Amino acid sequence: MSFTWDMHVCAARALDSNLLRALEPYRAAGVSMVTLNVSDAGFTLEEAVRTIAHYEAQIAAHPDELLLVREAEDFALAQQTNRLGVCFDVEGALLLGTQVDAVRVLYDLGVRWMAFAYNRKNAFAYGCHDARDEGLTPLGRELVRTMDEIGMIKCCSHTGYRTARDVFELSERPCIFSHSNPRALVDHPRNVPDDLMRALAETGGVMGITGVGLFLGNTSPSAEDVFKHIDYAVNLIGAEHVGLGLDHVPSEDFDLKGYIADRTFWPPGFGYDGDVVILGPQILAPLTQRMRSAGYPDATIRGILGENFRRVASEVWRSPAFSA
Ligand SMILES: [Zn+2]
Repeated sequence: MSFTWDMHVCAARALDSNLLRALEPYRAAGVSMVTLNVSDAGFTLEEAVRTIAHYEAQIAAHPDELLLVREAEDFALAQQTNRLGVCFDVEGALLLGTQVDAVRVLYDLGVRWMAFAYNRKNAFAYGCHDARDEGLTPLGRELVRTMDEIGMIKCCSHTGYRTARDVFELSERPCIFSHSNPRALVDHPRNVPDDLMRALAETGGVMGITGVGLFLGNTSPSAEDVFKHIDYAVNLIGAEHVGLGLDHVPSEDFDLKGYIADRTFWPPGFGYDGDVVILGPQILAPLTQRMRSAGYPDATIRGILGENFRRVASEVWRSPAFSA
């Protein structure tokens, strides 16, 4: 099985949740690596830290099945020992308040990408659902520089258009859209217009295609829908800039619809009050098959399944090789 990385997994963050059980479908599908969300919308820094503490304890309790991945060198270890690698992500810098240096603590705790905004503005950036986007604030520019310095991957999913352009322009390292789809296929503010996809690719970055039905343009989506979005991105920016960030919530008892009922972060008129279906790791086998039948070479498929994000992590994350 090739190295497969789902860049965005929203396991239930309840402090009594069973992480191994939630991640079992990923292990069953042969996934090598997941990035687990620990904060979005209006979560506080304290809540994020408590979630990380819970996840780290769960990972430590299952050392034969899970591995906390802290640097790029750990990918090979996870694969060799047949464990699912886990690192963390934060959606939106709101939880930093106005304290840029707090991002250093998140990195130390295992957070390996952070988005600048979660749909709405904060002290650093504007969100994709703000009526106006004035670009990165002075603090936001400081945040870009700090993230480049410490090796945190900069994500512009959920972030406003102009802010994202500023991030890409200022960035000295590859950036990502961890989970966003092409707006040319589905016109939704969470999706990304062509010129912004190109600007991302110019940083050397990767766009993770999501399995969220709303952003795929299908209320009952399938692997075919994901393939269409992958194929569009491959043709526009090149296969080496495409990956996967499905955004699946692998917890049956989680009330997703109730969760996104907050109309500040998920404003009315954008489909959030409809049925929310998010594809999970079960689509990976049919998706791989579909890419094969479309004539994608094996190396291209491996890139999209995970090697492209692995390349970005190897270039961005701070590691012994990097600091030496
Ligand atoms: Zn998201």
